[in-house]
Parts: sequence; C-alpha cells; structure tokens
Amino acid sequence: MARGPDIDVPTLREFRDIPAIQEGAMAHLSPFVAKPEHQEPLGFPGELVDNWQEKAIDKMGDLLGKYRALPVFLDSCVKCGACTDKCHYFLGTQDPKNMPVARQDLFRQVYRRYFTWAGKIFPWLVGAKDLTKEVLDDWYKYFHQCSECRRCSVFCPYGIDTAEITMAARDIMDHIGVGQKYSNEIIGKVHTIGNNLGLPTPALINTLEGLEEDIEEETGIAVRLPLDEQGADVLLVTPSADFFAEPHVDGLIGYAKVFHQAGIRWTVSSHASEAANFGIFIGSYEQMHKVSNRIRTAALELGVKRVVFGECGHAWRVAYSFLNSLAGPWDFLDPKYPTPQHICEVTYDLIQQGALNLDPTANDDKVLTFHDSCNVARGSRMGNIPGGQFDIPRAVLKASANHFVDMDPETICEKTFCCGGGGGLLTDDLLELRVKGALPRMEALKEVVETHGVTHMAAICAICKSQFSKVMPFYGLPMDMIVSVHQIVSNAIQLGTKE
Ligand code: SF4
Ligand code: SF4
Repeated sequence: MARGPDIDVPTLREFRDIPAIQEGAMAHLSPFVAKPEHQEPLGFPGELVDNWQEKAIDKMGDLLGKYRALPVFLDSCVKCGACTDKCHYFLGTQDPKNMPVARQDLFRQVYRRYFTWAGKIFPWLVGAKDLTKEVLDDWYKYFHQCSECRRCSVFCPYGIDTAEITMAARDIMDHIGVGQKYSNEIIGKVHTIGNNLGLPTPALINTLEGLEEDIEEETGIAVRLPLDEQGADVLLVTPSADFFAEPHVDGLIGYAKVFHQAGIRWTVSSHASEAANFGIFIGSYEQMHKVSNRIRTAALELGVKRVVFGECGHAWRVAYSFLNSLAGPWDFLDPKYPTPQHICEVTYDLIQQGALNLDPTANDDKVLTFHDSCNVARGSRMGNIPGGQFDIPRAVLKASANHFVDMDPETICEKTFCCGGGGGLLTDDLLELRVKGALPRMEALKEVVETHGVTHMAAICAICKSQFSKVMPFYGLPMDMIVSVHQIVSNAIQLGTKE
C-alpha cells in the first residue's frame, strides 16, 4: 500500500482522548508559497512587497470595516477554553498553536496593537504585538493549518468563527504578496481552463464518451453524459474530480443514471466544468464572485431551467450561502425549483415521488457509514427542513443500501470532524498535517469498523474523498473504503425498469 513519505503517524488512541500539548510540534510545516505567476493573474503582488507591514495593517483595517463579524469575533473571546480541544489539527498534532483560540490570538494580538486604544498605549498589558516578520511567518504556518471547518465555533459560547479569522489572515497575506501556491494556482486554472484539474474540453468530451460506453457495456442501457447541450433542463456543476478519478467518477455515473431514469435532460458545461470555488479558501469575495459568475454565464448560454450541484462540500457551501448574492438574480430559471439545488436533494425528491427504482440488496456486500463534510454540515442546508443537510444524504443512502450505521454522535452532523484536507490544504506539501488532522475521524471510523463491521464510508465532498483515499492507508485502512453517495445509488438503481 502506497503510504508516501515518512510521517510519524499518530497512534489510534482510546477514542476521544485529549492529548498533552507539544510546543512547536508543527512549527516546521508550511505550504509552498505562491510564485509571481500564481499571484499576479489574481491581482495580488507577485512577492512580499517592500512596505508589507503598512499594507497589511491597511488591509486589516479595510476588512474590519467591511466584515462586521470580524471585530466582534476579535473583541468577544473570554478565553473560556471551550474550543481548545475541538480542532482536529490540535487533536492530531498536539501543537498548542493549533488550538482555535491560540490560532485566533495570532491575529488578535496584531489587531489589538494597531486598532485598540489599550494595545496602542500598553501593548504588554493586553497581549498586543507588532506585526513583525516572525509574526507573519507564524501566520503563514498556522493559518494554513486551519481547514476553515468551523467545528470550534459550534462549541464556542459566543459563536466565534475561527474560519472567518483564517480567511481574513489569508486575504491580508495575499494582498502583501504571500499567497499559498496550491490554492492560487488552482484558481488561476479555473479562470484559464475552466476547472481545478486543468482538463481541456477535448479531454472532457473523451471522458464523458468513455463513461457512456462503460455504462452501456455494464448495463446494456445507453445512458447519456452530455456536454454543452443547448436547451437541457439541468446544468450540472460538479467538481472536476468527478471526471477523473475513483471514487468520484462512480458518483458521476450515479448522477447520470438518476437523470436517465427520471427522464431529466441534463448537461455539463465546458465553461463551468468545476463546482469548486477556492475563492472561499483564500478569503477573497472578489475571486468567489468571479468563479461563481462562470456558472451564471453557462446557465444563460445553455438556456437551462435548473442549476444542480454535484458532490462537493465547499462548493455547496458557496452555492447555498452565496450564489444568489454573488451571481444572481437567477430569475431566468424555472421558479418551481430552488436555485441552486444539490444532487442529493434531486435524488431524494425523486425517491419520494417513486420515480426511481432502487434495489438496496445490490449493496448487501457493504456496511455503510456516512462522513458529514464540514462545509455541508456547518455552512449550508438541504431541503426546507432544519438538519436536511444531515438527513437527506442519509435517506438517499438508506434507500440504496440495507446496512447503515452512524459513527459516534459527537463526531457527526454539526459536530462532524473535518477530513483533514479541507480549506485549501489538500496538497502533498502538507501531507503530514493531513495525516495527523485525519486522526479524530479515523478513530471514530475504527470504532464502527470494530463494533459494527463497517466496510465503507460514504461522503458527498470531492476533497473528503481525495483526502481519505490518500490518508486511510496510513491508518491501516484500505483506500477504496471511501465511496461516493451516488456510487451507492448507482449500484442500486435498476436501469430499464422505470424509464
Ligand atoms: S475552523 Fe476547524 S480547522 Fe480551523 S481552528 Fe476551528 S476547528 Fe480547527
Ligand atoms: S470557546 Fe470562544 S470564547 Fe472560549 S476561548 Fe474559544 S474562542 Fe474564546
């Protein structure tokens, strides 16, 4: 089993043990810095600017004025400690700077120094600090050891959202020329080619045609996976990983079978061939807006009636929370359907209407569990019911498989643990962090493997699926244990019996 470079993999512990701290345990790790060719196309300086300190403070002032929550979060922490053991990166690395409150304090100390009366006059009394190069280096390291998952905010009595502080810090760093290579390079690819993976249109055509052939060979039924089809009812916006690798591609096959059986005309767009929107990871609403607008352009050009998102966690968060304000109004779409819709909502509604014929015994070789992806769980909803984002994917799984068991309630739904690779950290230069950050999820998974014989964990996020495929072998679990929710639907759907 490929395990990659040598990493001191944490031992799976007694479930939910809180580890002792290890000062500086992750001080050696930071991601590759973006080069000028990744920075400049996004409108950021190519490298650290000469007057970086002044520019950073100006940008901080700008963000404090623009985002009302930011100064509230910075002023309201009472150091109660409720968040300290809630971050998967602290639990996996033991580095005290990965405690959410300590991460916030890296920003808070600078805020106090330049934006509060006490911090300007008595900095030593209020924990205020100058923005030195040493502080900036700590920012770069530890704001790239936060996946913006918001778990800590669930436990904070004041609802302080560390993710917002991380996003502000990354935005400031981009504006002084210290961006992260992984995220900024990917955003550049979305602008120039259309998707994160840099798949050009001919490669997309090839892939979709190949998948049509595979489905027909396997089932004897011709199921279409159309690209740029004018006048289709549904524009499917899905992560480009769905066109490329397992288990993602098995999910895409599942969506195609669902649309086929329900008689829904759908299409993928070569212009918006990516659901992911890394603008949120770098805290840039300008980039989020630009990336979102591709979807509007594609929907208008193709004349579709609905926009449906495939299985991608942060894409659904951006879509659900911001698509209408970033790229609306969507008044040219059919008002019968919400904009946007999640593929799980579509499949769930079709199941309720009896429009799909699912045979759950097709998955009888599996005992399933479900990993709630953090952006779906804590940044969005599905359906018109509170908690729909938890219930709907589970209902789809339970309609498609007979054996399902949830993991420990402290690790699912709104308390779910991040996979360890979200928030722009799914890069091999951070593999050590990814492996260690996955520890709490791996511990909860191991528990249901041992007690209930769980064989597979389903997810609705491309980042979670890629992350788990990579890190599970470090914990002695097979990489194909992670599956797409619509892969399970795909196995169960009885083509040729309804349509
Ligand atoms: S947002 Fe998530 S990753 Fe960031 S500090 Fe909070 S729990 Fe940790
Ligand atoms: S839980 Fe909230 S108030 Fe308490 S230390 Fe953490 S951020 Fe501060």
